[in-house]
Amino acid sequence: MGTMGLETMLIILAAITGVLAVVGVLVVYGTVAKNEWGVNLDRVSCPRCNTPAPTPPEPRSFRQARWGEWTCPVCGAEVDKWGRELPSVAPCGRVMSAAQFGAVLKKWTIITLPAGYFTLSLLFYWVRGWRPSTWVEALFQLTLSIVETAIFTVLYLLAWKLFERFFLAKKGRDPR
Ligand SMILES: [Zn+2]
Repeated sequence: MGTMGLETMLIILAAITGVLAVVGVLVVYGTVAKNEWGVNLDRVSCPRCNTPAPTPPEPRSFRQARWGEWTCPVCGAEVDKWGRELPSVAPCGRVMSAAQFGAVLKKWTIITLPAGYFTLSLLFYWVRGWRPSTWVEALFQLTLSIVETAIFTVLYLLAWKLFERFFLAKKGRDPR
């Protein structure tokens, strides 16, 4: 039953790697797109009164602690980690414009498509009968899946950029 044990461990390893890959993609994309998942090392200040963000951070809620948001100690504005003011009371049903919806769609596909691709590529190896028998082979298979996913993600981003440039520009809309 030695191979069964290895297979179980491989599934766990693949799951952990998959989760790490998704978080990694989220953080990298979040930093580029300046969303809540990103990392901002620059000091920001209040967009209303220019008061610098408190250091060390003084989160006033779990949400603030998690996403690096803060409340201006002078004017009380809710600010995100990128120095943009947040609506203090979030509306219940968010009404989005087409452009906003496009941005949200992009955000979600950028997360779910690579994650799905990664899972499928591993699945295909297994369906094709490539079951690694050693740890080295298993790591090689995982690396191959990660590289494939990275290439897929880059191609997807390029395709989206081209789509935005040619399709949206033709319609006379600001791609941002
Ligand atoms: Zn302020």
